[in-house]
Amino acid sequence: MTNLILLGPPGVGKGTQAKLLIEKFGIPQISTGDILRAAVKELTPMGVKAKGFMDSGALVPDAVVIGIVEERLAQPDCGKGFILDGFPRTVAQADALDQVLAGMRRGIDHVVSLAVEKAELLRRLTGRRACPKCGAVYHVEFAPPKSADRCDACSGELIQREDDKEATILHRLTVYDEQTAPLIAYYGGKGLLRSVDGLGTVDAIQASILSSIEAPTR
Ligand code: AMP
Repeated sequence: MTNLILLGPPGVGKGTQAKLLIEKFGIPQISTGDILRAAVKELTPMGVKAKGFMDSGALVPDAVVIGIVEERLAQPDCGKGFILDGFPRTVAQADALDQVLAGMRRGIDHVVSLAVEKAELLRRLTGRRACPKCGAVYHVEFAPPKSADRCDACSGELIQREDDKEATILHRLTVYDEQTAPLIAYYGGKGLLRSVDGLGTVDAIQASILSSIEAPTR
């Protein structure tokens, strides 16, 4: 059983790495960002409430995301383990997660902290384009669509997500520094932290993550 947290700023590559870890371990990824975006799209009461926070780059209130994760962890497919991506983002969320897991007689095995410098994060995030019709994601520099502004898969017109605009991104990075970065020390103190350089090829980073979680606990 592997219970993992991927920690790091927006744009560091948590989602990409989580998708590879799913294949490797056969356990689900729990991305609170994905769950919230689906709720926004479906106009559920939670989505309607969350949208304003997300569009401005602020965090959605702790109680909302804690509720999402608690419900998700109770699903049978999490029995073999899980990869949390984008949660916890505050110390209050981390404390709540501990309590939820303790109630299930479970705990976190490893917290993988991915880091890259801020200029690189900005480059990655401001270049992102998404297809609102089918959900495909592109990057103007690293993964451009075949014809500009059109989705390769469904020809939908590509957009820049509201929370990928530069002013919003700068705000998201500040929110990360103030509210989420303290979790590095939090999990370091519990002996769970594994620090991995987030700069390099997707495969090289995956290999570093795997060796960091296979290494003996420091
Ligand atoms: P992400 O895709 O993980 O960058 O999340 C997109 C947005 O969803 C964030 O900017 C927040 O507004 C919201 N969000 C996702 N996860 C959390 C969380 N754990 N706590 C609070 N807000 C979150």
